[in-house]
Amino acid sequence: MEKIKMITPIVEMDGDEMTRILWQLIKDNLIHPFIDLKSDYYDLGLMHRDETNDQVTIDSANATKKYGVAIKCATITPNAARMSEYNLHEMWKSPNGTIRAILDGTVFRAPIVVKGIEPAVKTWKNPIVIARHAYGDVYKDVEMAIPSVGKTEIVFTDKEGNEKRALIHDFDNSGIILGQHNTDKSIYSFARSCFSYALDTGLDLWFSTKDTISKTYDHRFKDIFAEIYENEYKDKFEKAGITYFYTLIDDAVARVMKSEGNFIWALKNYDGDVMSDMISSAFGSLAMMTSILVSPEGNYEYEAAHGTVQRHYYKHLKGEETSTNSVASIFAWSGGLRKRGELDNIPELVTFANELEKATIDVIEEGSMTKDLALITTIKNPKVLNSEEYILAVRSKLEEYLK
Ligand code: NAP
Ligand code: MG
Repeated sequence: MEKIKMITPIVEMDGDEMTRILWQLIKDNLIHPFIDLKSDYYDLGLMHRDETNDQVTIDSANATKKYGVAIKCATITPNAARMSEYNLHEMWKSPNGTIRAILDGTVFRAPIVVKGIEPAVKTWKNPIVIARHAYGDVYKDVEMAIPSVGKTEIVFTDKEGNEKRALIHDFDNSGIILGQHNTDKSIYSFARSCFSYALDTGLDLWFSTKDTISKTYDHRFKDIFAEIYENEYKDKFEKAGITYFYTLIDDAVARVMKSEGNFIWALKNYDGDVMSDMISSAFGSLAMMTSILVSPEGNYEYEAAHGTVQRHYYKHLKGEETSTNSVASIFAWSGGLRKRGELDNIPELVTFANELEKATIDVIEEGSMTKDLALITTIKNPKVLNSEEYILAVRSKLEEYLK
């Protein structure tokens, strides 16, 4: 078979520990044999981030703005233990945080649904994609303990010094208060990312907040979504045969539990944090969850939702066998290559991405999988493969499909 040619490079962000090992295995076995890979490569491995004073992370995000599509391997976010383990100059910020700050996007988390790994909720047959707003609210709050009797107020002072005040509470004893904020700009870009991702994937979009209680704050989110939908997306949604649906968050939770899936659920920052953990664990495994950052300008970054699987890496370093699940990392590659194929109009690349995903899933559905899945599958007597064996099994299947 002749290798598939690419036009625009894909931005490749390499990473750390066990996922870095998997990344190389995926490239060697599932990408290079089939594709004449054009990649703009950035090594976000912690050592190289340290050597470049984290400039490499910034460069990789700027390259994503330039080319439009990136794929990222999981990376270490340094903490005190990593400072001494890697002898770092500085406790570098989370690469994902840095990249998100530059691209200004929304993160969509989508489970990879496989027969034999059954969701805890029986009605769920298709993925439920969580879109979490990634700025503000309780994550940027200001809190205060109130020691005694007294009045608490919110004050806004404009440039001329005019004040606008609202009473929070007249305390007759000790208590607590909290102030939070968001910006219209961030909410607008959240809304646009959600609508454009829905169009892109052909999925319905749900959005929910607590606007009946929070009549100014949450209501602003609801109004901005409604405005963007009416003015920019309604016609496109109708043409694509998908719907936008707003409902109160309590109602949404009840509906999600009775749904069959197949939609995007957009949520404010805290709601998205909590609900994405619920959805991912109910779908079976963190190792079967992809994460896609979509910027309001339409730049895409694909990655696995899990981390660098440190414990497995230490086993690997000791020469012990590992059985680490590479499905979400493979899907980062297929997702990025499919998007590249769509943007550059390379149908062979789109077909390749689809076949790669099919091969990845079919190996599992036919009973061969890594240990994490073997422990939870409903398939009888699954065959447990090690990290490399699983990728090789996907390779033989893929070769068969592409023949
Ligand atoms: P983790 O790497 O997601 O792993 C937590 C545990 O989940 C593992 O020990 C393993 O359980 C299981 N697991 C996760 N992914 C798996 C896979 N692909 N196959 C099999 N089992 C898997 O989280 P962590 O250990 O808390 O974090 C390790 C490093 O990752 C940290 O330095 C953190 O900063 C970084 N991190 C990066 C990202 C990112 O780049 N997006 C996200 C999260 C964390 P068992 O050990 O029981 O087998
Ligand atoms: Mg969380």
